Amino acid sequence: MKPLGPIPQGYEAVEGALAVDGISVTDLIERAGGTPLFVYSSGLIRSRVAELRAAMPDRLAIHYAVKANPYNPVLGLFSQLVDGFDIASGGELAMVREAGIDCARVSFAGPGKRDEELEAAILAGVTLNLESEAEADRAFSIAEAVGIAPRLAIRVNPDFDLKGSGMKMGGGAKPFGIDAERVPALARRVIGSGAEWRGFHIFAGSQALDAEAIAETQAQTLLLAGQLAQETGVPLPHCNLGGGFGIPYFPGDQPLDIALIGSLLAERFAELPPALADTDFCIELGRYLIGEAGVYLTRIVDRKESHGEIFLITDGGLHHQLAASGNFGTVVRRNYPAAIATRFGTEVEEEASIVGCLCTPLDRLADKAGFPRAEVGDVVAIFCAGAYGASASPSAFLGQGPAKEMLV
Ligand SMILES: *Cc1c(COP(=O)(O)O)cnc(C)c1O
Repeated sequence: MKPLGPIPQGYEAVEGALAVDGISVTDLIERAGGTPLFVYSSGLIRSRVAELRAAMPDRLAIHYAVKANPYNPVLGLFSQLVDGFDIASGGELAMVREAGIDCARVSFAGPGKRDEELEAAILAGVTLNLESEAEADRAFSIAEAVGIAPRLAIRVNPDFDLKGSGMKMGGGAKPFGIDAERVPALARRVIGSGAEWRGFHIFAGSQALDAEAIAETQAQTLLLAGQLAQETGVPLPHCNLGGGFGIPYFPGDQPLDIALIGSLLAERFAELPPALADTDFCIELGRYLIGEAGVYLTRIVDRKESHGEIFLITDGGLHHQLAASGNFGTVVRRNYPAAIATRFGTEVEEEASIVGCLCTPLDRLADKAGFPRAEVGDVVAIFCAGAYGASASPSAFLGQGPAKEMLV
């Protein structure tokens, strides 16, 4: 038997079935009108943000990275809970506006911004995190054409990366940001252009579970921001320190020690150089804020045996939960946390593989793991489905279409 990832805290059984915010999956599925279904828990999101705020220095603002989960009711909930939003496309700009979020709280990073996207962002008062000198030139001319002083920050490609991170986004040659040594010259041009100067965005990586590595990266980020601000010759108004806070997905993964990160960051904040004395700092997080608050529910439509192995075949699959199938940025396929939701908390009775309904061997949600005996009609839960699920999976594949989504 292969192990499953750890089921996040906060899920319990109600009358033998998994419950989210106290409501059983059977009721949730009935409310939603069927499976496959993503359920997001507002209770778990709220407590996650509250715990994070309690651990971090007061001076640190918290931003939500919309690409983790742009579902409209989720954005509406986060608008009450976090200080800012980071978007990475014109499509996400439309989504935050649709959710009624004030664009003064929004910043827009990401390579390859088209002129229409730059213009929409400038008109809306969104802060642009410039990814190249050429993008800066286009932003200057669009701003002049529309007659608005743009709000501009520079995304810095740092000379370091986040150790142990699942996705490295800094250090060496990268399509993201502007190499650190070229930043002060561009910053002076931005300031000289009459734009509103919004400072630096320094993002070094994602999905790290090592608190000391994150703290070390934050310390390096502050050092770099201080040097670049000093070379620019103007105190830094704002600095986005990136994120990278990971969640446990796989067997053996341990939760991140945020108390340690918070106390080490408070020490760094106590000894900032003059160029950063009045800087507003933020971090931007996606999966840490919502990943564990989401569960993907899919119903078993067939149970079969082949060469002595049991296969539970579901009405969902990798077209909604690509990451759980191991095909979204993982090298070795390991099992996400999973359970038979309609027999939650019941003893393991057999080894089975949970597969999706797509006609490809890639479509495997749990491989040779231990479950209570499940029948056709039972519901499978895949946990850690709050981030990079619905919006990061190929829902058009094989004509299947998207899953339903629900915030409780
Ligand atoms: C993807 C991304 C994030 C969010 O990453 P998480 O791992 O979900 O926290 C934040 N900032 C930038 C620039 C990103 O590209």
